Amino acid sequence: MKIKTLTLDGFKSFADKTVIEFQPGLTGIVGPNGSGKSNITEAIRWVIGEQSAKNLRGDKMPDVIFAGSEIRAGLNRAEVELVLDNSDKYLDYPHEQINIKRRIFKDGESEFYLNNKKIRLKDIVELFMDTGLGRESFSIISQGRVEAIFNSKPEERRKLIEEVAGVLKYKKEKKKAQSE
Ligand code: ATP
Ligand code: MG
Repeated sequence: MKIKTLTLDGFKSFADKTVIEFQPGLTGIVGPNGSGKSNITEAIRWVIGEQSAKNLRGDKMPDVIFAGSEIRAGLNRAEVELVLDNSDKYLDYPHEQINIKRRIFKDGESEFYLNNKKIRLKDIVELFMDTGLGRESFSIISQGRVEAIFNSKPEERRKLIEEVAGVLKYKKEKKKAQSE
């Protein structure tokens, strides 16, 4: 599975619609301090279902919306779209191309779309669960995260290992079965 494109529109410092095309091979994103590199990784995490505003360096989720600058008024909605090449069927979804979109308005909840069909947050979380891209994964390591892992409690560290081992889905199913 590979990222084909990432489109940010009104997300954090990306007030204008910005399309980033990922070429085959390794991609490096460079730029001065404060130019938006971390915002790009946060956009990827956000579109695949991040639920903690704190993990995105905000207080509440609508903080991801472009808040304005000296020369420009703030916006009232943010949108991120991620297009994935799934021709190796890495994700359990019967399409070679996967298009995920998340949108948020200032006063509202997030809306999610999978290949242009409206879906729930739960569907997105399930799609990425146990793939190494889930919530507790190591695929995206932000500044300070390594220290946080070293300093975490054993139960928290266990969760990370379980995500890597791919057992979260089974634990969730077991819990569901037990409650039925
Ligand atoms: P560094 O090299 O220091 O890690 P960086 O390239 O990772 O920098 P980011 O942290 O991605 O930079 O970007 C920070 C910039 O994004 C700041 O200028 C901040 O004001 C801006 N920013 C963050 N959230 C918003 C928002 N909601 N609206 C407008 N600008 C925002
Ligand atoms: Mg940064």
